[in-house]
Amino acid sequence: MSLQVPRNGKVCVIGSGVAGLTFSYLLNQLRPDVHIDIYEKQERSGGWLNSHHREVNGSKVMLERGPRTLRGKSDGSIVMIDIMRRLGQLSQVQYVGKKSQANRQFLLNGQGRLVEVPKNWTQFAKFVMDPISGGLVRGMAHDLLHCKRLDRKTYEDESVGQLLARRFGSTEIGDRIISGIYHGIYAGDMNEMSSLHTGRRFVEDEMKYGSFVRGMFSGLGAKPSEILSGELMEYNRSIGGQTQHNWTEFARRVKQSAMLGFAGGLEQYPLALRAYLEKQQQVRLRLGQAVASVLPGTGQNVVVNGVHYDHVRSTLNPSAMAAIFPEIQGLQHGDFKSVSVYIMNVYVPGTNLIRDAIAGFGYLVPQRSSQGDGLLGVIFDSVVERNYLNWQTQLPRHQDDCTKMTLMVGGHYLNKGLHLDLHKCLGHVSNHLGVDLAAYNPVTQNLLARDGIPVFDVGFDKKAARVVEECTRLYAGHVTLGGVGFARGPGVPDVVMHELAAVLHA
Ligand SMILES: Cc1cc2nc3c(=O)[nH]c(=O)nc-3n(C[C@H](O)[C@H](O)[C@H](O)COP(=O)(O)OP(=O)(O)OC[C@H]3O[C@@H](n4cnc5c(N)ncnc54)[C@H](O)[C@@H]3O)c2cc1C
Repeated sequence: MSLQVPRNGKVCVIGSGVAGLTFSYLLNQLRPDVHIDIYEKQERSGGWLNSHHREVNGSKVMLERGPRTLRGKSDGSIVMIDIMRRLGQLSQVQYVGKKSQANRQFLLNGQGRLVEVPKNWTQFAKFVMDPISGGLVRGMAHDLLHCKRLDRKTYEDESVGQLLARRFGSTEIGDRIISGIYHGIYAGDMNEMSSLHTGRRFVEDEMKYGSFVRGMFSGLGAKPSEILSGELMEYNRSIGGQTQHNWTEFARRVKQSAMLGFAGGLEQYPLALRAYLEKQQQVRLRLGQAVASVLPGTGQNVVVNGVHYDHVRSTLNPSAMAAIFPEIQGLQHGDFKSVSVYIMNVYVPGTNLIRDAIAGFGYLVPQRSSQGDGLLGVIFDSVVERNYLNWQTQLPRHQDDCTKMTLMVGGHYLNKGLHLDLHKCLGHVSNHLGVDLAAYNPVTQNLLARDGIPVFDVGFDKKAARVVEECTRLYAGHVTLGGVGFARGPGVPDVVMHELAAVLHA
């Protein structure tokens, strides 16, 4: 859907999270003639990107309360790092190489031990010996013996849990392993999640090879493509402005990183965008001004809080849209759900309590290993930060010894009415790590990311497409929908790519 904005037109952006700010920045770059009003209901911008700085024992510490890392292989990360370059912030960019200790991931097994997710055959052999992979070999054999291609035309959405059970002949692999990954990415229950929206890779493999195992083997040893997507090429041509050679090299470096972040936290990205946008005459950031209604105007415009605009870009989570877009069918009656996640930051200065054998990005808790406390996963922030290299110097930053981690708790368990006890969770984490965290008097802080992540449940794509269609019809194409609910994936880079696509078609 293209944006219809006349010369010197007026655009309203709803929300100043990653989506709203990225959209505004890119639009301002491409169409400096356009007036942009950004409405934000909070007194701060950045949405879920929230890097909290505080003092502990006289030293400054940064604790992330939302997203903290970007995946190197996502196209959106390349665009974000390039925007930081354009804003003079490249010295803030840091990355972790693929061979780094911080690129190890663990799963909690049913016995309360951490098991490394395999990246090579030796690790795979070890993984298969662990009780966590009970049913793995049998499931893979079932998958190979029941090879059958899915028909692309007739395939109806189903839950990821159903899809896995169908292919592996039982729910074991889903319950013991894959559900952990869904906890880490979506804080969701794979038995509710849409295979088409969240398990595209599985569905594609079944369509192409009739089997996951065959799909997995066919991809082994294949080098990731160095060809940049059309959107990345177009971004560089119309906004980025690097030579073809430099752009390809730049993108290659991002893709070769396991993950990226910014010194000072991921919030540096919206802060840099905001600082830039506030200097532009054509842009107004209206903090503390919630949008209450978006109504079709007379003729070619839309009325937001009584003000006329040529175009409106909403970046709201679909579950928050009903009150503002009362006329769009399909937004009512809780059609779109979301989950809330407790973020518990834990910080112990002066000591590294994460032993080498388990040092990595962190660990996830599959449904079968849950101890009934709602723990979804734990991120070892201090391990990631210790392994970061500066983008420009390729050197590590000096860091004093410390232990910093984040517990993610709740998600779909909260929606099912589980009563959470964060202290109990911390006790369980102590057992997993083999250290009594309480004995070190950790600094802790909790935040509830209320309705932080949409539930991409079965049928989600159809529901979202209906809302987009209805919105186009009602507002004659003058309202477009962005943000995490309408992007292709749930991560920050996915959101950035969705906003880029909208602006490139303006
Ligand atoms: C706890 C947590 C951890 C995450 N970790 C990662 C990670 O490590 N890596 C990763 O890539 N992604 C992660 N994500 C996902 C990532 O946070 C999202 O993809 C991204 O922040 C979505 O940005 P957005 O702009 O679409 O939405 P938001 O950040 O939700 O922004 C929407 C904005 O709209 C404002 N708003 C709402 N209603 C109104 C209104 N009526 N009027 C005006 N303004 C309004 C809100 O205040 C908000 O500022 C995580 C998400 C959560 C919740």
